[in-house]
Amino acid sequence: MPIHEKSLIRKENLVTHERLTLEGVDVSGDWSTFIQPRVITDYNEAMQDEIAALPGGEAIHRCWQCGSCTNACTINALNSDFNPRYWIYLIRIGLESELLRDKDIIWQCVSCNKCTYACPRDVNPEGVMKATAHWLELKGHTPPSPAMVFDEVFSEQVFEHGRIEDGRVLRRFFARTGQALRQDWLVAMVKGLVSRLPVSLLIRLGLATVIEPKTRGWGPARAAIAEYVAERHAADRRALSLPAEESKR
Ligand code: SF4
Ligand code: SF4
Repeated sequence: MPIHEKSLIRKENLVTHERLTLEGVDVSGDWSTFIQPRVITDYNEAMQDEIAALPGGEAIHRCWQCGSCTNACTINALNSDFNPRYWIYLIRIGLESELLRDKDIIWQCVSCNKCTYACPRDVNPEGVMKATAHWLELKGHTPPSPAMVFDEVFSEQVFEHGRIEDGRVLRRFFARTGQALRQDWLVAMVKGLVSRLPVSLLIRLGLATVIEPKTRGWGPARAAIAEYVAERHAADRRALSLPAEESKR
């Protein structure tokens, strides 16, 4: 019988009887520990292709599992469960149910791109993480991540005004993610800015937040961007065989 490292086996797959006697021998407790066999039947053979069809995931097939991405990863250094190499492996063999066990942490990638520079196969692991988080949302496995909500708020501003007002972006982001506007880090940052920036610039920033100025002649650019974004959304949904979404704009 093979010897297994107990710490590597999931608790739910370990079975132990508190009281068990076999052929007159008391094997209660750890003596009766055995590992439940696992039979995996739910391979998603389309998963690699689906993620490769989303922006950032294109080169996932090149991965040779060297682990350099995980070794270099900023988030892995804080939480060893955040493992780009392992998730790429699961995606490539179609183990969707295993990937879903980590669905609530995949979005935490901070796009530092250390993995991208470490990768010897030009896989773009950062892009794969983004594509995977996007895939999880499109499939309905996770709600929109804070990063996705921020992208939405940011894009809405560009569509509406052709420019960005940082204060309004932050206000909307906090409102949409259910966070209080008063955050300690934000107060510290604003205090730092107020003490360093010229008064004229501060007045302009304040007025821009109230007046909400628009970029002149923005209409044609807005229409072109809206068309591109709609095409991109439609392509992503087609790649995952999802029904077309009704236009929001
Ligand atoms: S980009 Fe994301 S996956 Fe890559 S090293 Fe940074 S946090 Fe890790
Ligand atoms: S560094 Fe590149 S090739 Fe190596 S495991 Fe990560 S993605 Fe795959």
